[in-house]
Amino acid sequence: MNTSYGVVAEQYRKRIRHFLTQQLPAGWNGIAEIRESERSEWLERWRLLLDENGLLAPAWPSEYGGGGLSAIEHIVMMEEFTISGVPTGVPTDTLSINMMGPTVLACGTEAQKRHFLPRILSGVDRWCQGYSEPDAGSDLASLKTSAVRDGDQWVINGQKTWTSHAHLANWIFVLCRTDPQAAKHRGISFLLCPMDQPGIEVRPIINAAGGQEFNEVFFTDARAPADCIVGKPNEGWRVTNELLAFERGGDATTVPLIIRSLFDSLQETACEQNRLADPLVRQRLAGLYARTEMLRFDGLATLTSMLDGTLQPGAASMSKIRWTELYQDITLAAMDLLGSHGAAHNGVVTDIALPPGVSTRSDAATWLNHLMCARPASIYSGSNEIQRNILGERILGLPREPKLTL
Ligand SMILES: Cc1cc2nc3c(=O)[nH]c(=O)nc-3n(C[C@H](O)[C@H](O)[C@H](O)COP(=O)(O)OP(=O)(O)OC[C@H]3O[C@@H](n4cnc5c(N)ncnc54)[C@H](O)[C@@H]3O)c2cc1C
Repeated sequence: MNTSYGVVAEQYRKRIRHFLTQQLPAGWNGIAEIRESERSEWLERWRLLLDENGLLAPAWPSEYGGGGLSAIEHIVMMEEFTISGVPTGVPTDTLSINMMGPTVLACGTEAQKRHFLPRILSGVDRWCQGYSEPDAGSDLASLKTSAVRDGDQWVINGQKTWTSHAHLANWIFVLCRTDPQAAKHRGISFLLCPMDQPGIEVRPIINAAGGQEFNEVFFTDARAPADCIVGKPNEGWRVTNELLAFERGGDATTVPLIIRSLFDSLQETACEQNRLADPLVRQRLAGLYARTEMLRFDGLATLTSMLDGTLQPGAASMSKIRWTELYQDITLAAMDLLGSHGAAHNGVVTDIALPPGVSTRSDAATWLNHLMCARPASIYSGSNEIQRNILGERILGLPREPKLTL
């Protein structure tokens, strides 16, 4: 494991720090400090600034408007943005820039790259991800939404669910069954569908914090142009796996920064509640601290192997289980320390979709917000049970789980 990033990366870090100091308002203490009513407008201005400075899609090749950064520079940039508590775009950019863009770059045609990538950067196109269905989540390949070719269009029927930010998006990448006769992983296509049409209805799902983060999306004879397909017809599963790799990768060294800052806030909460002398509290804090440090070293090991091309299969699953469970355990410890104050806070619980960033706050409202953010983390991007199955079957060589035939 390498704990040094090298001279070039550290020079780049200085440039990014300089950029952030110049561009963020004086006394900046993270995006959560901006009032919710003003946040979208602020983020749009911030997004424009990032685009003007080649920082909106830092890892895309420069010929498609990206920053052309090396992997290590990109990671340094992500770390510095995390430390400053400032997002790298608006909420739909996680899907547009980190997932849709890399998928088109890896599997799309040249015409698709030239058409879609600039429109993502300019913000004209904002994407959401149509994978999960009411009866197809962990077992995604059993999806039923269908697409049938009709002349120069695909006609799509079915329902997607838990579609994050669909209410803010105007395009959806949607997995559809295009050959119902084929085996379930075959016969699926990766289609690109405009959402501004009568055949698409978006219905909000209100989350545990009372906010609208995800939605149900209904397709009733919705239409997508015939060439809006990534990869060949019926070969969408390959494209899906490519995209899930983008969704599950990265974050190796940025997530430990967030978790460390949460741990520091937890210590502060213990101090404020006069509980630091309690041996049980001390023991719990010590255990969480040890796991926080292990996560940091795990991140550095992942980064080292990512850079030298020796990343082991299963590393992403292992890291996802570690950070999500630690995140949940830290927030639960905080709520236990706060006791009744945790429920009866007088602050504002912010949007749980907000990336927590590095925060120095330890008030009850902030903890409740973190608690809400932490709960779904072990479900999205493939639940932790599924990550354990992956590790058991593919890394430990345990027998595959039996397939149920109903
Ligand atoms: C905040 C959030 C945002 C999301 N955003 C999107 C999005 O934008 N687009 C999208 O398509 N989806 C999205 N999802 C959906 C997400 O991908 C699914 O929730 C996830 O894949 C699990 O599927 P499910 O909810 O259908 O649960 P199920 O698959 O029904 O699983 C239910 C429970 O059973 C367990 N389980 C299932 N199968 C097994 C097994 N074989 N072995 C052991 N345990 C098992 C699971 O771990 C889980 O605990 C989002 C989810 C969340 C929470």
